[in-house]
Amino acid sequence: MSSADLREVEVAIVGAGFSGLGTGIALDRVGLRDWVILEDGDGVGGTWHWNTYPGVAVDIPSFSYQFSFAQRADWSRTYAPGRELKRYAEDCADAYGLRDRIRFSTRVERAAWSAEDNRWILTTAGGAVVRARFLINGSGVLTTPNLPNIPGVESFAGRTLHTARWDHGVDLVGQKVGVIGTGASAVQLVPEIAPQVAALTVFQRTPIWCFPKADVRLSGAARRALRTSAGRSAGRLLGQAFVEVTFPLAAHFHTRFPLAGRMESVAKAWLSSQVRDPETRAKLTPAYGVGCKRPSFHNGYLATFNRENVHLETEAIDEITPTGIRTRDGVEHPLDVLVLATGFKGVESDNIPTYDLVGESGETLGEFWDRNRAQAYQGVSVPGFPNFFTVFGPYGYNGASYFALIEAQTHHIVRCLTRAREVGADRVEVTAAANDRYFAEMMRRRPTQVFWQDSCSRANSYYFDQHGDVALRRSTTWGAARESRTFDLDDYQFTGAAVGARR
Ligand code: NAP
Repeated sequence: MSSADLREVEVAIVGAGFSGLGTGIALDRVGLRDWVILEDGDGVGGTWHWNTYPGVAVDIPSFSYQFSFAQRADWSRTYAPGRELKRYAEDCADAYGLRDRIRFSTRVERAAWSAEDNRWILTTAGGAVVRARFLINGSGVLTTPNLPNIPGVESFAGRTLHTARWDHGVDLVGQKVGVIGTGASAVQLVPEIAPQVAALTVFQRTPIWCFPKADVRLSGAARRALRTSAGRSAGRLLGQAFVEVTFPLAAHFHTRFPLAGRMESVAKAWLSSQVRDPETRAKLTPAYGVGCKRPSFHNGYLATFNRENVHLETEAIDEITPTGIRTRDGVEHPLDVLVLATGFKGVESDNIPTYDLVGESGETLGEFWDRNRAQAYQGVSVPGFPNFFTVFGPYGYNGASYFALIEAQTHHIVRCLTRAREVGADRVEVTAAANDRYFAEMMRRRPTQVFWQDSCSRANSYYFDQHGDVALRRSTTWGAARESRTFDLDDYQFTGAAVGARR
């Protein structure tokens, strides 16, 4: 269904990933049913719709990587493969009656605030115009594939694939394949394709800390246990506790709980146990502390470098040529297929959201952040951008399960919209004072984080933005959930012709 038939709606949601679906569910719950989701792709699931490369799977335990109110008992493994998460998204869209309000293949290119009538005017790539009282951004963060700025990248005459746009029609069997990048996507892809290809060269710029993963098939007994509420609660508690200790506690409270050093010992021992050749081991050992960039979890990645047909190349890439890759030492690496495992645009001013968002002053949100550094009240709202809320914003996400983020942020948003409805407001805007206070609080808290150790300068980590900030929320998951329920609604101004009348 296109957006051509749609002109006016109370709430426009951008993105039908789990953020957008979770927002739709949360709005329906409080009777705010006049919403639409505008989605670029032709299916739901966001990350799990677009990322279908071989080996794709979640690296947060499935028991906590799901909505608390829609827990599954039938995950096949402790860490679900991507196709099960895509299926889960489909099931949520059906079970919660969302599908008929999703407009697929509708890419929002611009949203501009109209102060005259307190509405957002959205323009889509197809030229449709949608007017919405409220705009909720669920376009995620790791959304837009990053093409490396390597000379000649367009000139390669063989097949070029990006992990986030995998073409399953390309047969890798017997091919000479080069993979650029060693982030989480490559870590999952490399062991999966290595046995099929004739030769695999992995071009590594910065090694990644790789940990073993408690990734096991769930037995019949485990699945039966998950069908009981006690079993589900126990699984969720264990999964969440593991995530909480390994990310929020280790990263944000590093000076109080110096777990990163111990984690480094675990990762080094794992590396020693997996890779036979000492030179390769040395090349795979990061020169930065655990936590400076997102680590990976995989049981087969490191051992893949023992294979005869796999080569780890750490010489810098000079150029991509029509026939392969030339490294700085002058060596030509002939390739049939080039895989770009080069990640995504990150917390960059032109990437959150993935479209131009023009606020009250005519400035875009990106320009606002360029000028003021990335910031958003509770990671949700920004002064000067009335009636706009984002599920993922600066200092909203603490790095744990994305679903915990979605549930907390949509709770925040729903509180605002419910208050607006109660008082008859057609304009809701966070105050500059509240935003400043929150940002100052985030700055006050950050010295305890792991990101400020000297070795992070060697990590090349996408956590750091152009200002050198890491816009993650220094909070436990429970702390963030609590704040979404207790923040002061007077941090927002609710205005509009009907406000006085209804109060
Ligand atoms: P990434 O972590 O950003 O890794 C990109 C890789 O490409 C890095 O190794 C980077 O090297 C390299 N690279 C980029 N440009 C390059 C260039 N011009 N020359 C040479 N190398 C270049 O991307 P990703 O692996 O797609 O993962 C992104 C994030 O997605 C993860 O951190 C994770 O949050 C999420 N993810 C999660 C899962 C999961 O849950 N299982 C799976 C995949 C992804 P440098 O390090 O030197 O920059």
